[in-house]
This record gives sequence, C-alpha cells and structure tokens, in this order.
Amino acid sequence: MSTEHKLERTRNIGIAAHIDAGKTTTTERILFYTGRLHRMGEVHEGAATMDWMPQEQERGITITSAATTCFWRDYRITIIDTPGHVDFTVEVERSLRILDGVVAVFCAVGGVQPQSETVWRQARRYNVPAIAYVNKMDRTGADFFSVVEKMRDRLGANAIPVQIPVGEEGTFRGVVDLIRMKAFIWEHDTLGEEFAEEEIPADLQELAIQWRERMIEAAAEADDGLMEKYLEGESVSADEIQFALRAGALANQIVPVVCGSSFKNKGVQPLLDAVLDYLPSPIDVAAVVGTDPRDESEAKRAPSIEAPFSALAFKVTTDPYVGRLTYLRVYSGQVTKGSYIYNASKGKRERLGRILRMHANHREDVDKVSAGEICAAVGLRDTGTGDTLCSEAEPIVLESITFPEPVISIAIEPKTQADHDRLATSLARLSAEDPTFRTHTDVESGQTIISGMGELHLEIIQDRLLREFKVDANVGRPQVAYRETITRPAKGEMRFVRQTGGRGQYGHVVLEVEPADPGEGTVIEIKIVGGAIPREFLPATQKGIQEAMDAGVFAGFKVIDVRVRIVDGSFHDVDSSEMAFKVAGSMAFKDACRKARPTIMEPMMRMEVITPEDYLGEVIGDINSRRGHVEGMEPAPGGAQGLRAVVPLAEMFGYATAIRSMTQGRATYSLEPSHYEEVPAAVREEIVAKATGRVMATR
Ligand code: GDP
Repeated sequence: MSTEHKLERTRNIGIAAHIDAGKTTTTERILFYTGRLHRMGEVHEGAATMDWMPQEQERGITITSAATTCFWRDYRITIIDTPGHVDFTVEVERSLRILDGVVAVFCAVGGVQPQSETVWRQARRYNVPAIAYVNKMDRTGADFFSVVEKMRDRLGANAIPVQIPVGEEGTFRGVVDLIRMKAFIWEHDTLGEEFAEEEIPADLQELAIQWRERMIEAAAEADDGLMEKYLEGESVSADEIQFALRAGALANQIVPVVCGSSFKNKGVQPLLDAVLDYLPSPIDVAAVVGTDPRDESEAKRAPSIEAPFSALAFKVTTDPYVGRLTYLRVYSGQVTKGSYIYNASKGKRERLGRILRMHANHREDVDKVSAGEICAAVGLRDTGTGDTLCSEAEPIVLESITFPEPVISIAIEPKTQADHDRLATSLARLSAEDPTFRTHTDVESGQTIISGMGELHLEIIQDRLLREFKVDANVGRPQVAYRETITRPAKGEMRFVRQTGGRGQYGHVVLEVEPADPGEGTVIEIKIVGGAIPREFLPATQKGIQEAMDAGVFAGFKVIDVRVRIVDGSFHDVDSSEMAFKVAGSMAFKDACRKARPTIMEPMMRMEVITPEDYLGEVIGDINSRRGHVEGMEPAPGGAQGLRAVVPLAEMFGYATAIRSMTQGRATYSLEPSHYEEVPAAVREEIVAKATGRVMATR
C-alpha cells in the first residue's frame, strides 16, 4: 500500500455536539464496531473509554481531547474527542483547527440547541466540512425531519438527508439509504453488529422517493455533469450521486444528514460509511499556510510526505506513565523517533523521544509519523499548545490557535503548608495543559489567583488539584474579569524629569487615545508629527504604555478597545534613557485615559433556558432582576418554553441552584461568553470602590 494511497484512506475527524446529544455513546459504539473495544462501556455507568478523567465520568461530560485511532473498511480514522460543555468550547476550537472534518451530533428530540450553534459557527470559521448525525431516533418525540428543518433555519446549513429513518420512537428499526434505495434494519436485542439489507418498507417508498429527489437536486448543484444528465431526465448511478455529494460536502456547500440511535445500536455503521464517503482525507485539504520565520514571507506546505516536515502541537497533557505528552497534527513530510525537530515558534531544537499512536484502550509505539497523521509525542520539553514543529533547514510557523481571555477569577488558598508547597507546581502543570486556564499572584494581597472560562471550569480545576495533585485548597468568591475602556478621544502628556545629582532622567511623551471598535483590542500606533522621540526609545515608550494598559488606569482592570497614537515628545542628549521613556509613556497614557471618560466593561453571557410553561413568568422576572434582557422566546418540545437572553456574568454565580429551586429542577439552561458591555453607573461605583479597597473575602 503506497503512502499516498494510505493518505487517501485517512480521516481525521471530530465529533461535536451539545452536551447530552450522545457524542460519548456514539464514539463508544464507533470504537466497538471498528473492533478496538471488546466491551461496550455505557456512559450512564461512567465507564466510557474516551473519558479519561474521573470528574468527567462523575459529571458525565467530556473535557479533554483524547485522540483515538481506529480502522473501518481499510481506512484509518482518528477521532479527536471534543467536549460538550460550553465552558470548554476552546477545546472544540483547537480540535477543529487541526481536523479535516466533523460529525455534528444532534438529538432527535432536542434538535438544534444553542451549543450546537456555537460549535457550528466555529466549524464554519475553520471551514471544516461536516456531516450531521441525528441521534436518539428511538426516543419519544424524536423528529428527524424537524431537526433537518432547524439545521436549515437556525444554522443556515444546506442539510441534505442521505437517509431517512425506518420506524419512529420506540419502533425505530433502521434507516433507508437514499442513494442505493435499500433499507438497513437492526433486529432488537443484539449489540447491533449484525444488520439486514432489505427492500424499503412499502409505507416508506413514496417518502423515500421524495427525499431522494431532493438529494439528487442538491448533488446536481454541486456537479455540472450530473446537472446536465438530471435535467435531460437521464438516470444517474449511485456512484455518480455519491461523487457529487462528496464534492458538495468537501466544498462546504452540502451537509449530508444521517440518523440513528447509538444507544440502541442502530445506524452507527452507516454513519461510519458516511464519514468515509463525505468527509475529506488529508489530501483533499488545501496546503497549510504559514510564514517563513527567516524573512516573514508566506510559506505553504502541501499534504505530502515529500514536502519538508511540519506539524502543529495542539494539546499538551501530563501522563502518569510517560510524563509530558504533546499531541501533534503532522501537515507535511515525515519524522522518525529519536530525531531532532525544530520548534519554529520558540526558535528551539527539540528531541522527539517516542511517537505514540493512541487507541481507545492502548497506546502503540510507532517509528515514524507522516503527513496527515495525528500522534502523541514524548520528550518535547519546551513545546506548548499552538507551537509549530518543523524541519530546521526549512522552517515554517503555522498560524497558532487563538484562545479567548478568561472571564472569571477566584483566589485560592492552600489549606496546609504541604498543600502550599505543591500548589505552584501543580497550577503550572495545569496551565501548561490548558491555555484558557491562567494563574498569577496578586501583588497587593499576595494571594494566588486562578482564572478560567466559567464557574464549572474552575471547579474542575479545583477537583483535579485535589485528586491528581493532592492539593487541598479553599477558594474565594468568583470574581468577574472586568475591563476598562475609554468613551471619547483625549490627549495625554508626560514630561518625566529627575535631577538628583549625577546623571538625571528625561523622557517626554505626548500621545492621543481614542475608543476602538468593540472587540478590536488595543492598538499602539506611532505617528510622530512634531518634536522627536529617538527611534531607540520608542520600544521602551510602547512597553510603558502596554504595562499601563495591563495594569489598568483607574480600577486595576486591563484596558481594552483603545487606539493609542504617539504623536510628539522630546529628549535630552545626556539624561534620556529607556527607563525614563518607559515611565513617561506609562504616565502619559494614564493621563490621556483619565481625560477620555474611562469606564468599566463587564463580560456578558448568552443564555438559553428551557422551562415548563408554568415557571416562565418567574424565570423571566429573575433574569430581569439579574440585569439580563430576554431576547426571544419559542415553544420547546414537550409543551415547554425556550427563551434566549443576554445576562451579565457577574449576576450569574450560583444560578444553577437558583433555577433549580425556582422550577423544582425542571428547567435546563446553558451559558456562553458573548461580549463585553459597559456596566451601569451604580454598579461601576461599587466595582471601583471594591477594587480600590481590594477586598477579596475567602469563603
Ligand atoms: P454527550 O454528552 O453528548 O457525550 O452524550 P452521552 O453519550 O453521554 O449521552 C447522554 C445520555 O443520552 C446518556 O444517558 C445516554 O445513554 C443517552 N443516549 C445516548 N444516545 C442515545 C440514543 O440513541 N437513544 C437514547 N434513548 N438515549 C441515548
């Protein structure tokens, strides 16, 4: 088997879904049918093989991306497990970055939930082709066609069923393959390995013909040859339809939809076929683009083993047996174990000790890894998430993975001296694994502060500290990551002069600030019109401004969405120094911001609640009292009401308990970071008073 042939027969996929849609169960079944798992782990018993950490099993959610390789019909499929809880969308994001295709799992009852939308938007951003799997067809209220409609309406996806279900709810028995016009039927009470190929049941004939027609129309739109035949009324073969659908799916024009019930062991094998049929192989994907660090020019690497070696590190974990494990996606070339590779992001050479291929229940040592493969490397000391590894002779830096800034922080205090000693190293290891988890020491209170993407995220970190690192700690109340910004343009100036015998200090900076567009971040431009700051002092001036931005201007929060222009200044032949310009830059920036009517911004969350009708009034009243606003409502399955709202994160702590008691545990909700908004004046005063007083009560 030539390597090119193997590449064609490779699929690197992610399985993305709303929590509870059945991603874990589906992954389990895939591993079972592909022969890699000899015992089916049932999720509700907490025995799923893809979920590594005890917390995940207890909570029934999946957090880490474990890359698992399996084989189906002589194809190699590597599955990157992606988490379902919204606090971890960054995990979804980073896997989408390195995958070639995604299976989006939807619940046949719940349909398109808010998090499915998030995942969908992310996948579109990375241009990842997708197929949709409508799971839980056996459940009461399952409605395949309604989910397809919602995918079209809500997600704007060109969802094209290539199957329709046979039977519904309790009588769901299998699927009709609309391409071959055959039914696949699973008998009850088996593990689903055996299924029968049958004629389409008589009562489904007409429906199947209708949906087949729609499918062929969609396929014809993706393929001119097929379109011609179709318009001429000529018959088209199954292979032709499939070829056209594949082209449409790879071009992101079509989302083929299949269905099944993973839990009842029905429909999983055809789903695997669909992965091979409609998702790209590494060679279907365009050459990866990056920059040549030697001259900053654009560089490309084709997905071929002939090209120079390049790979992206997308996850770092600490493994109890081998230590630091670095997950790599290889884009081009190949590399053998024991060789030296170049970390172009950090400018360091690293030795690749061992190469592992991870399977669900074992790991395999391999001698080399090539273009299109995903593996775990042992021995890389300095490589972090997002770094590029490549051949030193032909370096390239691939676009790194972007991670959102944490929105919530808590103070953490070790309980005993022994805990204290272990805390710092444990936190360092956890933040090496997870780029959205940060830790720092508060200069004023001396407390250790940990920051992350939500309450649950930090709770899990605390759990892991206790279980994996045996560090017991108390935590404070969660603090929201506020930001400062300005609301109008202003000018600031600072002439920093010190004369204390000997050599003095002289730095003089004039700058302008103006509000940038929301989400733009901070930009420092240099546009010196009069006077002069010598070039050699400009970096120090910028550094001073940057430090002032990070430290905040009036309440100690990072400044965002500000454009700064250094416009003027002056210097002294003898007394000017980098130090003096750094101080002058920092103070000029603070001066300008104070005049620019500064304000405080708070993180807002997008929320969706599904509640029985009876509690709707109370739930809405509560959202209003939390300074939230309801943006829309619509009926949800089972006579419930769904509502969407935007709420300030600061008001949402403990919401899980509040809504449980309000609705007797009958409502569900999800929260997801959305954007920053200016806080109301009264709240602002409170925040500033608290921030300047630095109270950080420990529970
Ligand atoms: P995840 O959160 O997306 O990983 O979902 P899980 O795989 O953990 O499934 C959530 C729950 O739904 C579990 O209790 C599963 O047993 C159940 N489940 C998964 N697939 C199906 C299905 O096809 N039918 C039914 N009735 N339940 C399912």
